[in-house]
This record gives sequence, C-alpha cells and structure tokens, in this order.
Amino acid sequence: MYLHTKVTQLKGVGKTLESRLGILGIQTVQDLLFHFPFRYEDFSKTQKIALIGDADMVNIRATIELIQNRRSPRARKMMTEALVSDDTGQIRVIWFGQPFIVKNLKVGDEVNLSGKVKLDRFGLQMVGPNYEKVSGSTIHTARIIPVYPTTAGLTQKHITSLMVQAIRAVEHVREWLPDDLQKRVQVIALQEALHKIHFPQDKIDIDECHRRLKFDELFVLQLRAEMIRQSLKASSAPKISFHEDHIRDFVQDLPFTLTKDQKVSAWEIFQDLQKQHPMNRLLEGDVGSGKTVVAAMTAYNAVLDGFQVSVMAPTEILATQHFESFVHMLGRYDVTIGLLTSNQLNLHGSRVQIEGTSKKKKRESFLNLLQEGKIDVVLGTHALLTDDVQFGNLGYAIVDEQHRFGVQQRKNLKDVSGNTLTMPHFLSMTATPIPRSFALTLYGDLDLSIIGTKPKGRKEIITRVVDAARRQDAYGFIRTQVKEGRQVFVICPMIEDQKGNAGEKKTVMQEYAKLSEKVFPDLRVAYLHGKLKAIDKQATMDAFSSGEIDVLVSTSVIEVGVNVPNATIMMIEGAERFGLAQLHQFRGRVGRADHQSYCFVFTESNSQKVVERLKYFEGNSSGFDLAEYDLQTRGPGEVYGTSQSGMMQFKLATMRDVDLIKLAREAARDIDFEKYPQLKEQVKKWEQNVHLE
Ligand code: ADP
Ligand code: MG
Repeated sequence: MYLHTKVTQLKGVGKTLESRLGILGIQTVQDLLFHFPFRYEDFSKTQKIALIGDADMVNIRATIELIQNRRSPRARKMMTEALVSDDTGQIRVIWFGQPFIVKNLKVGDEVNLSGKVKLDRFGLQMVGPNYEKVSGSTIHTARIIPVYPTTAGLTQKHITSLMVQAIRAVEHVREWLPDDLQKRVQVIALQEALHKIHFPQDKIDIDECHRRLKFDELFVLQLRAEMIRQSLKASSAPKISFHEDHIRDFVQDLPFTLTKDQKVSAWEIFQDLQKQHPMNRLLEGDVGSGKTVVAAMTAYNAVLDGFQVSVMAPTEILATQHFESFVHMLGRYDVTIGLLTSNQLNLHGSRVQIEGTSKKKKRESFLNLLQEGKIDVVLGTHALLTDDVQFGNLGYAIVDEQHRFGVQQRKNLKDVSGNTLTMPHFLSMTATPIPRSFALTLYGDLDLSIIGTKPKGRKEIITRVVDAARRQDAYGFIRTQVKEGRQVFVICPMIEDQKGNAGEKKTVMQEYAKLSEKVFPDLRVAYLHGKLKAIDKQATMDAFSSGEIDVLVSTSVIEVGVNVPNATIMMIEGAERFGLAQLHQFRGRVGRADHQSYCFVFTESNSQKVVERLKYFEGNSSGFDLAEYDLQTRGPGEVYGTSQSGMMQFKLATMRDVDLIKLAREAARDIDFEKYPQLKEQVKKWEQNVHLE
C-alpha cells in the first residue's frame, strides 16, 4: 500500500463508501492519514461492572448471557438487547437500529464494550456501546478512541477500520523537517506523529502528535512569509526620496488636521519608499479612519520623484470613488490622474487628454499615455493587471482591500512597471481590523502600519438591535429621516438563486419588493446585487450618490469603501449571518458627514448566542474589539473569510497556540532555503492546495 493508493483499494470500500469519503475530501490513503480526529474518548481503562455508575464513559470486559432483537416499546425501531456479566456483576446493554448485531455476537462470547452508562428505571445500562470480541488487539474498544469529522452514512467505525488498514502506509510518509530543526523545536517525527494521532496510547501521545502536526501547519505559513521576505530583500526597488516641502504644503492645504496615527503611518511609508528594497506594507485602519489621504499623500510624493503610481480597488464602484477622492486631493497640484476599469476610462489633468472617439481608440490612447509615463496616478480594478497595460515608470503600487499580494502578482507588477531592474514598492490597505498577534501569523511577510484612532469630532453612530415588535417604529423613523433629505442603505445576506428558492433567507429581491410596494411605496427604492452587470451597478450607485434614490437595498457588495456622506441609516437584515467585523464594515458606510447616523440591526434568530453577539455589536464601536470578540467565539475563518485567513487550512492549530506560533516564526526566520530544499517544496505543495491570493 502506498500513499497514493485509492481508498477503493481498501477492504470494505465500495461505491457508496467511496462517495461518502469523497464528501470529506478523502480519495487516497494519504488523505485518510491526514484526516485527523477532532477529539478522543478515553476507553483505555477497563472497569469492573460492579464499580461503574451513571454517566460513566467506560470499557467493560464481559460475557454475553443473553442477546435478542425486539421492537422497542415506544419507537417502532428495532432494538437489540443483551445481558452481559463479568466476575463482579451484570449489566443490560441495548443498541438501536442495528439488528445485525445478533449475528455477530452470540451467547457465551467474551466482549469488550465501550460506551456510556445510563441509569433509568430498569437500573444501569449501556446504550449503543462499541463492541468487539476479545481476541488480540482492539480497535473500537478498550483504548483511546478517536472521534473523526464525518458525514451522513459514514460511521466512526468505518473510518477507524479504514485507518487500521491505511496506517501501514505511514512508513511512506516523507519527513520534511530536517533533524536538527526537529530537535531545536522539540517535536517528534512526522511518521510517529501520524501514528499517534490515530492510535494514541495515552494523553502524552496526543499532546506530542498535536504539537508536531500543529507546528507543521504554522511553520509552512511562516516559511512562506520568510520566502517572500527574503526574495524582496534580494530585489531592488527605486529609491523614492521624501519631498518634505511639497508634502508639508499638501498637509497644510487639507481641510482637516491629520491624526497622529495618520502621520506615523505616512512617515513609515516615506521611510520605506526611500529604501532600495521594495516596501511590503499593510496599512490597517478601521472604516473612516482616513487611509485614503495617507495613500494619496504618499502617492503624491512618488509622483514628485518622477514615478507613476497605481491604485487598485476590488470593485469598479470603489475604483471610481478612489479616482474622485484622488482628483479631489491631488488635482490641484498638477498631477495627471487616470481611471481604468473594464468599463470606464477617465482622465484628469491639463497636460494630456484621451484621443479618439470609439471606445477602442480611447482605450488605446489611454494605454499609450500610461506607457509613455504621462499619467501619474492610475486608479482601477484588477483590469490594471491585464496584458495590454504597460507603465512607463511604475514605482509604487497600492491595493485597497486585498490583504495579500501573491508572488506571481508581484512579478506581474514588475513586468508591467516599465522597469526591468526594479520592483515597485507595495502598499496594501485594509479596513478589516486584524489584531497584531494575528497579523503576525497570517501576514508575517508584511510590515504593519495601524491607524488605530479615528479623526476627532465624528458623531458616534447610534446602533440598535431592533426586535420584531419595533420594526414598524423603525420604518417610521426611517421615513422621517428621508423626508429630511437623508438616504438609507438596506443590507440583505443573500440574493435569490435561479430556482427562486432562497429558503427562509432574506433576499434582495424580496426585500426590494416589500419595501418598494408595501413599506415605502412613496419613496424612491432601488436595489443592487452581485449578479447585476457592472454598468447597471455603477448607474445605480451613481444615482444613489447624487441623491436620486432614497433607499438602496443591497447585498454585501457595498461592504467596502463606498462613500455616500448623505446616507445616515444602515439597516441590516439577517444580521446573524454576518460576522461582527463585517457588520462593522456595513455600519461604516454611514456617519460620514455631520448628520447623526443610525445602524438598525434585524435578526429572526432567537438563539441566545446570536442575541449576545448582536448586543455586543450594539454597544461597541471599535472594529478591533469586535474582531477580537468574533475571533474568540467563532474562530478566524468565520471572521476573516476562508480564502483570506488561510486558517481554514489548519486542522489543528488555532489562534490560541500563541507559543507555537512564535516558535514557528522564530524557526522560519532567516532560514537557508538553499540548504533545505525540502522546506521550499513543502511551501509550494501547500500553495497548490490553498489559494491565498
Ligand atoms: P477609510 O480609512 O475608510 O478609507 P477615508 O480615507 O475614506 O476612510 O476617510 C473617511 C473620511 O474622513 C473622508 O471623508 C476623509 O476626507 C475624512 N478624513 C480623513 N482624515 C481625516 C482627519 N484627520 N480629520 C478629519 N477628517 C478626515
Ligand atoms: Mg477606504
């Protein structure tokens, strides 16, 4: 048996089991070996019948005195009933729905029974225990029994029986941690760890294998970060000097004073830009904390030094807004600013203009200007990274709301930059509050700048979890706000699917119908969701921005960055479906001007947990606190999304493994990848399985 041996080659696996294993992503023996138990039940100690009591989890070794099937009196289920004894006493055992047991176990057989003891009016009994005849080694009883993640129709017994077969292949598993490293970080060998996780003898075995396997998960992430760090350190970037006088003027021209954190962040970026290695920095700041001005200011500095700057946003709407903000902030300094998305072209500046009349000609003209270096700052979507886009002299690339930028994407950036010898400096911005410790795990390759405080004088957004009885009042309140000229966002968790069965989930279309026909027939209601064409989205967004729409019903597409200062009410339906950090992002769409703003949260859930979470949200306006709360209660995958967090790839490690995270980080630091090619390989393998970018 080999690691790549298909599970269908194992004894007992037919078509049905194959497909059920498939649901768990298990196709080969290797997949099986890496299917880890999420807990254990300790049946390693065999107890005498006379000594067991109610609610014990025990193994007993006993002889079958009686065994028979009968219909259970209440349910019409088939029930198997046995009486077993050892030298200290007797106990009743029952199983439900497994009539075949009478074929396996006969009177006089000596068996191990592992399971839970229950006291009812008939006295003590064991209900549904695992059973095995006493003969040689035991698998399902009389040991520490692993409990695996599973799926309908696949029992723990199935998985364990397959594991017994598969474990023989463990000798083919290749060790990837060099010996000296294993010693240094004090972990056991991989083969041993895999054996122990499925067949532990005691608690120590479990601790040891967990330590090793968690370390592996964390280490590969840290190695990846280290690889990126080293490769950046080995590449050159243009040195962009700090234009102090101009920047001071810029700051003085602003209609507000920069916050301390904005100044510090900008300063950190200016420092990095002056270095000859590419910057790789994450600028973190809650919604409304003022990241854009930091981006604009540092972009301006690069332009002053003769470089081009690109600013990439995740959506067309955001790219357009960034374009407008940049024009607003930099337009007056003779900076040429362009917008490029798959649907839009725009240019601001007096030096050059777009030639041509057809869409195609205009685009060509725009791209030429870009290549000639005549557009200083270009804002856009990922369309900026398509083949025909070439810069003349790109020195600084900014990406909004994407935490990471892959090695490949960086190479692409370099290729289009117009500079063959240098790689552009890179700044990523995010409004997702990521606690520093967590950022270390996920973004070990990035330097961090945090804008932790918002500009002064912002009015707190009044947040209320509205219960069903008060819904009409909330609508009434919204109506008065609209009459005063304000606007409203309504967020729903899902859009209607093709068959129209969205279940009990609120959908944009249903909500739109309800609000436009029944609740606010006199107001101007519109909708927005991800399936709409980009042009239609933009048209609706424009109409909302210019005040032609009162109420905008939307999915989470407006989550990030959208800026409509006149919107003062954020209504969130089905709030239980969103993480707190995400709810916080929605809330950040209002309160962007002087008007008092409101966030109304609706849920149909009665779950105590949900209510508690939403109450926490109601009473807390710090994105970091909210993220921390969700991290503790729901785990990182839920908080940051599976693709971003990479945490979902962790089967064992969690954020609580602080010491191991540190250890993995230290072990990865400055590692010599030439000396340990297998480490590089492991990272590559891992990257193929996860898509972090
Ligand atoms: P975000 O960090 O969410 O991208 P923005 O950069 O869009 O936030 O800033 C939100 C609003 O705050 C903008 O209208 C911006 O002009 C304003 N702003 C930024 N910095 C300050 C400041 N120091 N004082 C007052 N207002 C500011
Ligand atoms: Mg922003």
